[in-house]
Amino acid sequence: MNTKPIVENRIWQPDFECMPVGQLRALQLQRLREAVARCSRVPFYCEQFAAAGITSDSIRSLDDIRRLPFTTKADLRDSYPLGFLAVPRDCVARFQGTSGTTGKPTWVAYTKGDVDNWANMCARFLVAGGLRPEHTVQISFGFGLFTGGFGLHYGIERVGAAIIPLSSGNSERQLMTMQDLRPEVLICTPSYALKLMDTVLAGGVERASIALEHAHFGGEPWTESMRERIEEGLGIRCWNNYGLAEVQGPGVSGECAYRNGMHIQEDQFIFEVIDPDTLEPLPDGERGELVVTPLCREAFPVTRYRTRDIGVIYADGDCPCGRTTRRMSRIMGRTDDMLIIRGVNVFPSQIETALMRVKSVAPHYMIEVTRPAAMDEVTVHIEMHPGMFSDSMSELQAVKAAIAAAIASVTGLHMNINLVQPNTLERFEGKSRRVKDLRGISF
Ligand code: ADP
Ligand code: ZN
Repeated sequence: MNTKPIVENRIWQPDFECMPVGQLRALQLQRLREAVARCSRVPFYCEQFAAAGITSDSIRSLDDIRRLPFTTKADLRDSYPLGFLAVPRDCVARFQGTSGTTGKPTWVAYTKGDVDNWANMCARFLVAGGLRPEHTVQISFGFGLFTGGFGLHYGIERVGAAIIPLSSGNSERQLMTMQDLRPEVLICTPSYALKLMDTVLAGGVERASIALEHAHFGGEPWTESMRERIEEGLGIRCWNNYGLAEVQGPGVSGECAYRNGMHIQEDQFIFEVIDPDTLEPLPDGERGELVVTPLCREAFPVTRYRTRDIGVIYADGDCPCGRTTRRMSRIMGRTDDMLIIRGVNVFPSQIETALMRVKSVAPHYMIEVTRPAAMDEVTVHIEMHPGMFSDSMSELQAVKAAIAAAIASVTGLHMNINLVQPNTLERFEGKSRRVKDLRGISF
């Protein structure tokens, strides 16, 4: 447990964030009952509630949440476009959606009250990570259906800081804006920050000409080692926040000034951790799939949403910041991006952690999985730092061996290492795609 704050410890809504635990649990129970009442307007729940005898009055303790049905992405898709809408259409203030990389987007809806609540949830983690009304913030998250752009926008507005709603893309313009308007805070995905950092480190932009102090990252998995690389490279503090459109968008949890994991906004969400195979709940401290029930959502209520994100809720006591809410780890992977390599479960984040231990490699990599014969093969393509790419075979062999050993110590697996020249791997402006699983593809 960290006991020293990294920035001044400030709290946006202390009445909720620091509520005595007993009171917080009572509030959760009351709100869970209200959420059940809202869900009973959704056909998907209505039938299941009737079959199981669930009414809001029948929810007597927080443990009763286990009587409620799980909801999956497939359930939302099956009710496309708006089967989960629990309010009349004229009460909807906003639609957003998830990226829909595989077909149609999943639509989510918000009432005016939902939008207002969401702004406060974002304000909470922004203030916790050092945002002040006098700051200027560059939002390099896409504005559009993706919840990142608009979610953060209204959170920043709530805090009273100035916003540059630049959206993603066009790195040159991003850096020019940083120099000309001198924002202190940047919002984007960690992989986009890496892309911008490349230009700064290559000398394209003088570090002194930009005023950045903080960045708030979310939307995709990243590691502690990646945080160190970016903090060192750009000379800023980077903060982690988590959320997903199906239960709100960003602002579901976020780090405080002490960085002891991400505080879950427990007055608004009930988190459970389950074993994804048996669906049985796991105690705090154990790693499993995060399941989230939003408590205050009016337009689009869901119960026990299976996020597919893997993490831990910490069981190590109170954080010195004064918040009473439980904290969660980084997202360690997703049940659907876990690679099973020769029978061993591996998350891309484990490989990233190993790679970042080796100094001569740049933070750009791609993991390729093939099955040339009966056995799985993994090749990790990784860029060298400019100036480190050597013509000497023995030096390159030594770097490769160091990387392979680092990966083997984290995953227990041997992987092939392919060192590539600086600036040759794909860069990402939004969420990164660093795994190519080519098994099962027949040519
Ligand atoms: P989509 O990616 O389908 O458009 P979202 O934009 O709502 O949907 O993305 C939510 C997902 O993004 C989460 O379920 C999680 O996998 C990932 N995510 C969001 N924030 C973080 C974070 N801080 N760390 C790791 N993963 C994150
Ligand atoms: Zn804290």
